[in-house]
Amino acid sequence: MGKKILVWFRNDLRLHDNEMLVEAIAKSDEILPVFFFDPRQFEITRYQTIKTGAIRARFLLESVADLRSSFKKFGGDILIQLGKPEDLLPTLVSTYEITEVYHHREVASEETAVSTQVEDLLWKLRVNLRHFIGHTLYNKEDLPFPIKDIPDVFAQFKKKTERDAIVKPCFVTPTYINFVEVEHWGDLPSLTDLVVNEDVKNLATSEEFVGGETVALKRLDEFLNAGETIALSNTSLKKTEVISKLSPWLALGCLSPREVYWKMKEAEANYGLKPYFNQIVVGLLWRDYYRFMFKKHGNTFFKPAGFKNDAKINTHQDNELMKAWKAGNTGQPLVDAVMHELNTTGYINNTSRLLVATYLIYQLKLSWVVGAAYLEEKLIDYAPASNWGNWATVAGVGNDLRLTGSFDFEKQLKNFDPKGVYAQALGA
Ligand SMILES: Cc1cc2nc3c(=O)[nH]c(=O)nc-3n(C[C@H](O)[C@H](O)[C@H](O)COP(=O)(O)OP(=O)(O)OC[C@H]3O[C@@H](n4cnc5c(N)ncnc54)[C@H](O)[C@@H]3O)c2cc1C
Repeated sequence: MGKKILVWFRNDLRLHDNEMLVEAIAKSDEILPVFFFDPRQFEITRYQTIKTGAIRARFLLESVADLRSSFKKFGGDILIQLGKPEDLLPTLVSTYEITEVYHHREVASEETAVSTQVEDLLWKLRVNLRHFIGHTLYNKEDLPFPIKDIPDVFAQFKKKTERDAIVKPCFVTPTYINFVEVEHWGDLPSLTDLVVNEDVKNLATSEEFVGGETVALKRLDEFLNAGETIALSNTSLKKTEVISKLSPWLALGCLSPREVYWKMKEAEANYGLKPYFNQIVVGLLWRDYYRFMFKKHGNTFFKPAGFKNDAKINTHQDNELMKAWKAGNTGQPLVDAVMHELNTTGYINNTSRLLVATYLIYQLKLSWVVGAAYLEEKLIDYAPASNWGNWATVAGVGNDLRLTGSFDFEKQLKNFDPKGVYAQALGA
């Protein structure tokens, strides 16, 4: 019997720069790609928000559909399963006589708990679950410090990492794949199958954010080669602020951070260094930092008191005020405009995120964890470490003490939109 490896896709929905896939192809005779739509990802949370709102769910469906069509070009497909990986994987392993399972390890507790459970179940079947870590710009083993010694101060992490670590080259996109024979690869669920706690009838269509590796690579190419035009169309506010809007694809792994980095280096060689290139690298370093901090500190980022056990935290949950903030009905025009943008598109830029979070915490004096849970529902680019890490920082309970206490709403408002142009443009 030939060696068959089951490749369990999660937030790594791509063929390019995918070590797990490259290894699986090299080490096996046939691979079986699988994706699980896990119902837990669409449930109501303890904060009465939905774990994955309709906009992100649609983006996810598009991303899996794109991966499916990529595999079809190689004469195969991806097996679609509805249910929990720990319930379904053991049966799949037996049915298809799988010899090993490959997957990417996550850093947030719910995802790592699933991995551990699957690992134990597979162990009983004498099948190994191999872990890959492929979400960051810098590999953990290339950092100049072990995880437990990574500096909590972002500035120190950045300085030492940039000085002493290297960004590895990308893994080559596969040119051939042999697939396990499967009779029914399974249909993709519909949006209404997944999103049972939300009315999706009036969901606005989005031409800007379409899920999948194909659009991600196109978008990266357009951004780097026509960056200034795109960048300017995004800068309603400060001229210096350039945003790539690549985060949704990075969050689901349709785009690898290393691909962004190396394509940027290519663009730099062709057109010279653009000031916003560096800004994107800094963004990717923030992304790495929060992921590594999650690995180092675990669940602390989800706790209202965070890293400050003695902190006076707002646990106030005035439902009416919270509802007004969520719906963009607070009466503060800019906050309301930004919340409307979030609710209709799933995307707001970093300045906007800081503004609405600061407003919730310091003006409305409401519980930051409920705010974070609401963004978890709505953001099209939601990533546990980036969302909860940034929220904890704004709430003043994060692990980088240098960043606490620097969130002044009035100051942010002045910097953000001195003439009220943005709020007006958004119809507030
Ligand atoms: C309250 C709050 C919640 C946030 N929640 C998320 C989230 O769930 N998912 C998410 O990807 N980002 C989150 N961010 C970080 C940041 O706002 C977004 O990554 C950024 O706005 C995405 O836009 P962009 O792709 O144009 O970023 P660019 O400026 O072009 O940056 C390039 C990439 O770097 C990463 N990045 C940039 N800034 C940060 C940052 N501060 N922290 C972590 N990663 C960063 C993103 O992957 C981004 O795509 C949050 C920030 C705040 C203040």
